[in-house]
Amino acid sequence: MELIDSHCHFDFDAFAGDRDTVWQRCRDLGLKGLVIPGVSISQWQTLFELLRLRPDWYGAVGVHPWWVEAFLAGPGGQDKQLLLEDLREQLSSWGRRERCVAVGECGLDRGVETPLEHQCDIFRVHLATACELELPLIIHVHRYHAEVLSLLKEYRPARGGVIHAFSGSEEIAREYWQLGFYLGIGGTITYSRALKTRRAVAAMPLESLVLESDAPDMPLSGRQGQRNSPENLPDIAVALAALRGIPVEEVAVQTFRNTELLFAL
Ligand SMILES: [Zn+2]
Repeated sequence: MELIDSHCHFDFDAFAGDRDTVWQRCRDLGLKGLVIPGVSISQWQTLFELLRLRPDWYGAVGVHPWWVEAFLAGPGGQDKQLLLEDLREQLSSWGRRERCVAVGECGLDRGVETPLEHQCDIFRVHLATACELELPLIIHVHRYHAEVLSLLKEYRPARGGVIHAFSGSEEIAREYWQLGFYLGIGGTITYSRALKTRRAVAAMPLESLVLESDAPDMPLSGRQGQRNSPENLPDIAVALAALRGIPVEEVAVQTFRNTELLFAL
């Protein structure tokens, strides 16, 4: 079984002590690659350095909604034009050459105190960059589906992207898919209480789904409190196959192909 982790924060400190060992175990389990999203400007450089070492790791550049407040408070934070130029420069000069494959992660989150208006300002910069450079987006959305959908309809990014850690109804899932957005499937589907999401994920075409660990976050059911790892990706594939009543090999082959298409790997 060959798999790609479409969303893994493998650059985070949680993996500082044993990143290579973990990746070796992932390789043994069939993982062929992973995509590491950007979360804040100060993190990009470390991320680039990691990517330089590993031809099977890909990256993205963005400011995650949890880091928007820190960005706005930092030097030049009020200047959105500066962020636009920064994103553009990273992605067009350094990025393409060194396997930076997307804009993100970016989006809107109702769980943080940053006002929606500020989050939208920063999200818009990412949307504009994705449109201009014709790159896919990695989108983080927590309880702001209506707002994200309306922005996607406004910008209509040609390369679409992925709604990472998708959680929501089938109706919402279909709206994203119609706009060219894949759904990132991770540990959420292993929780029996996530009824609505499980139902949506079972009903959507397999062509619309990609697998992700979101490690070190989003532990699988029964493993709460532990560090999540891309090593758990095969278990997510098994859970998805069970939900859809199909062989796990079918899930692996199609989601691998979907991830390659999404990021043009
Ligand atoms: Zn993430």
